[in-house]
Amino acid sequence: MRVYVDPELCIGCGICEGEAPAVFSLAASSVAEVVMDPVEADHEEAALLALKDCPENAISVIESETTASPAADSADDAEESPTDYILERKKEMKAIVDQDLCIGCGICEGIVPEVFSLQNEPYAEVLLDPIPEEFQDATREAAEECPESAISIE
Ligand code: SF4
Ligand code: SF4
Repeated sequence: MRVYVDPELCIGCGICEGEAPAVFSLAASSVAEVVMDPVEADHEEAALLALKDCPENAISVIESETTASPAADSADDAEESPTDYILERKKEMKAIVDQDLCIGCGICEGIVPEVFSLQNEPYAEVLLDPIPEEFQDATREAAEECPESAISIE
């Protein structure tokens, strides 16, 4: 498994380092750095815990192939492993537009029309819930670019 910390999102809180010190470090920077790549099997659980607990969702798995023994996964193919569960949860994203804040400028629709629309209302409506992975980066960008900070992401 390989993990990545988005330096734009990381606030340097140190939670990841506290939970998985072999994988994440803030020793050399004000944002967390990945110091074990790929993450060794013994440290995957701790790394995924950090991923789950990161308050900024700054940690992502960029390659989920585990270095753990394949026997661990073959025990019950039908059952979702804790790793799959956490990864699946992490992928889910929901966007909410605060109608009281939205001024209908259309910036969000311009960035990602698959997710935001002003076709039917004077404010932006969210068309997709949850947001599919392929639109998540653009949705985050739309939230950042919204001049009224009307878009929140969960
Ligand atoms: S838990 Fe998240 S925000 Fe905190 S230091 Fe680690 S990556 Fe950065
Ligand atoms: S960018 Fe913000 S203010 Fe503009 S339409 Fe979208 S949600 Fe509304």
